[in-house]
Amino acid sequence: MPDSPTNLRFTSEAHARELDERDALARFRERFYRQPGVIYLDGNSLGLLSKDAEDAVLKALAEWKNLGINGWLKADPPWFFLGEQLGELSAPLFGAGADEVIVTGTTTVNLHNLVATFYRPSGTRRKIIATELDFPSDVYALRSQIALQHGDQESDLVLVPSCDGRTVSEDDLIAAMSDEVALVLLPSVFYRSGQLLDMARLTAAAHEHDIPIGFDCAHSAGVIPHRFDEWGVDFAFWCNYKYLNAGPGSVGGLYVNRKHFDRLPGLSGWWGYQKERQFDMLHSWESAAGAGAWQISTIPVLSAAPLIGSLRIIGEAGIEKLRATSLAQTDYLMEMIERSGLTNQDYGYRIGTPREPERRGGHVAVEHEHGPQIARALKARNVIPDFRPPNIVRLAPIPLYTSYHELWQVVQHLREIISSGDYRKLDAGREMVA
Ligand SMILES: *Cc1c(COP(=O)(O)O)cnc(C)c1O
Repeated sequence: MPDSPTNLRFTSEAHARELDERDALARFRERFYRQPGVIYLDGNSLGLLSKDAEDAVLKALAEWKNLGINGWLKADPPWFFLGEQLGELSAPLFGAGADEVIVTGTTTVNLHNLVATFYRPSGTRRKIIATELDFPSDVYALRSQIALQHGDQESDLVLVPSCDGRTVSEDDLIAAMSDEVALVLLPSVFYRSGQLLDMARLTAAAHEHDIPIGFDCAHSAGVIPHRFDEWGVDFAFWCNYKYLNAGPGSVGGLYVNRKHFDRLPGLSGWWGYQKERQFDMLHSWESAAGAGAWQISTIPVLSAAPLIGSLRIIGEAGIEKLRATSLAQTDYLMEMIERSGLTNQDYGYRIGTPREPERRGGHVAVEHEHGPQIARALKARNVIPDFRPPNIVRLAPIPLYTSYHELWQVVQHLREIISSGDYRKLDAGREMVA
């Protein structure tokens, strides 16, 4: 009953204000550039710029201006060790040792390098397990890795189906782990529904079958704590431009469990060479110590610099605190939508994200028959969501800079968009970059 006394209390503007007053992370809001009057709920696609990240970029520019090539050793931090230093700063977010994480490459390129390292089909063990709900880039990359190994792009890639179009059951994933499987590669959090997989359980199951397992953590890095060492995950990779707020196209990150440090990287380049001897320019290969060996090329310093500032903020806030606030905010948003009656037939919204805290990531998938128009109507009202086909409006409250009052306003907009019929006047196609 939307108008019962408890619901009226929960859905009141005053309640949202109270939650903001109690929000221990509220002090971080002013560290970010937020457009006045705009509610930004797309930080899971591209995080906003912080003053800390901006300062770090300006500092890198000044160092280039003043030091030229000497910046490689004289900048602070020296560019030559920037990937390693950022890896060390990122490691606590992943439950990893400092030398198991490196900031390098981009998500799909890191996927290629890690799959080229860990996918070693032989005999009848040739299959890769992924899912039918995976991000397309991962599927394209896996097919091309299978082709490089002279495999069959269709039969060697097992895309485990979803029962409901939103989630994939861990039992189904585990059931697919047979002796024919050479690699498991899964998202930590599904990009559409926001379902979070139980990485510990899946890792244990894969290892029971002697299968290496890796995770694409694009949608968990910076918003969910990971325990890769404890879980025994073999490898992982992620982007730094989503919840890590390091800017469009910023450098990615990867993890290699130290038990694999003796492996040769699948795709080598001089940036993965033993650092002290990299400039000996020898043709014989010698791996850098640790995950650094999985670097290929010169680090794009200006695209890595923002991460210095971003990691400072995330370190100050603490990943456990970020996760707790993220869960509280997504919970609030989902409850607001339901208690305001928006999942009733008249409004037609539906929540596609699992409700259990241990099964969801940092965003909420709101489904609607007229999804593209709802997304457009929100933008016309200065709310920035994103849209994923066929009918999903993704809303990501970012614990560092989204307030409960903003979420309260978004729910009012969702209601008014339907009750006013506004959305009907808008184009039903999605935008080129949705
Ligand atoms: C965002 C995202 C990517 C992005 O890949 P890029 O190589 O950085 O363009 C990859 N995988 C998933 C699951 C993502 O969400």
